[in-house]
Amino acid sequence: MKMLKTASMTAVIALSAQMAQSQERFITIGTGGQTGVYYVVGQSICRLVNRGTADHNLRCTAPSTGGSIANINAIKQGDMDMGVAQSDWQHHAYNGTSQFEGDGYDKLRAVFSVHGEPFTVLARADAGVTEFEDLKGKRVNVGNPGSGQRATMDVVLNALGWTMDDFAMASELQPTEQAAALGDNNVDAIVYTVGHPNGSIQEATSTVESRLVNLTGPEIDELISENPYYARATIPGGMYANNEEDTTTFGVKATFVTSSDVPEDVVYEVVSAVFENFDRFKGLHPAFANLTEEEMITDGNSAPLHPGAEKYYRERGWIE
Ligand code: GLU
Repeated sequence: MKMLKTASMTAVIALSAQMAQSQERFITIGTGGQTGVYYVVGQSICRLVNRGTADHNLRCTAPSTGGSIANINAIKQGDMDMGVAQSDWQHHAYNGTSQFEGDGYDKLRAVFSVHGEPFTVLARADAGVTEFEDLKGKRVNVGNPGSGQRATMDVVLNALGWTMDDFAMASELQPTEQAAALGDNNVDAIVYTVGHPNGSIQEATSTVESRLVNLTGPEIDELISENPYYARATIPGGMYANNEEDTTTFGVKATFVTSSDVPEDVVYEVVSAVFENFDRFKGLHPAFANLTEEEMITDGNSAPLHPGAEKYYRERGWIE
């Protein structure tokens, strides 16, 4: 009899543990390659969210992915709840334009924007590339399909009237592979739309003598003046080995997006985890150091704000 009682008590305890666990809600954040900054954005948000699991029962993971376009598509398909995406691709996905023509996603919702991402071109010093023009006839890693840089590269080529055929070779290596490819002389240059400093460009510039390349000119000026999600961008000199001068290019913002299908309380908890611990968040990567709440809730967001984010920003008095 005594034995029986113990057994059933154990069963009750096990059952209630199971129930508590089954109330846990899992959220997944799409990021990018592990040598980029999106991965750190996702990991940092999850770290802050998971500190509060006992209170809100949310458990967050942020796996590595192909980047912006892959993240938006995963959210659209319901495979992921949230993700990081370039401001240009947030705009096009929501409006059904450019690569998203006929394939728009009007349930896409903005949460906040994060760091700036200059369109970054890095060439081997021995490749004789000082301006973007010099890439004609070179071997260039244009980025993996699904990445923001691959898609924005298409926009740049289009604006210049070039095609992929203008390169001797256009490879589609992942960000984690591109530094080694440059170092091994398998490509002359790599293209990456990314926050600075980041692991990939750091690895490349410390492995092989290489130079950041300017991207300027009337076609780029036009891209910037015609599209609100583009802006002039500078990569400060001295950030990477053998690159003492500032590099002038154009850029986008990294933005954090979700779907209107994701419940309001989930987005509210994620947003409060970030902004209640904002100094800690900003300390998690040098590209976050100068973030301000004000810019994050306005810049780069072209899809409507998710109601969960809006609720938090209103409570803080940041929006009407
Ligand atoms: N901007 C890149 C993309 O959209 C990712 C950069 C990063 O991983 O930090 O694919």
